[in-house]
Amino acid sequence: MNIGRKEELRDYSDFKIGLHRFEISRLFLKSREGGVVMHFEERTIKVIIDEDKCAGCTTHACVAGCKLYDRGILVLKDGKPALGGDTEYAKRVGTECLACEYECWFRGNKAITIEAPIPGLEEYKRKHGVL
Ligand code: SF4
Repeated sequence: MNIGRKEELRDYSDFKIGLHRFEISRLFLKSREGGVVMHFEERTIKVIIDEDKCAGCTTHACVAGCKLYDRGILVLKDGKPALGGDTEYAKRVGTECLACEYECWFRGNKAITIEAPIPGLEEYKRKHGVL
């Protein structure tokens, strides 16, 4: 009985740590349309999620896709996607697979935009006349 109780306490402690990490990870800014967006960065990309579009989403395909194709850094919190850790966690663990954007565009409410700058691309396009 005591062993079970100890485990119960430890689980609660882990839960509190997890909640704290969620709070740190939820970075917000105002979108151009005035809505709230959440964003985070991985090593070279920036993931931007328009949370207004998540309201009413029934698939949460971004989270499922992240778990299936990446390392599951996106988790569901209060019905919306959130990072499962702080900003350094996303940079360290994320693989930049783009699955969340793909899944959201095809199975969600088209809320995710990923900025993936390619250094030298503009110069290359200019040089080869493909602008
Ligand atoms: S799939 Fe798209 S719309 Fe649905 S919760 Fe994820 S980001 Fe939001």
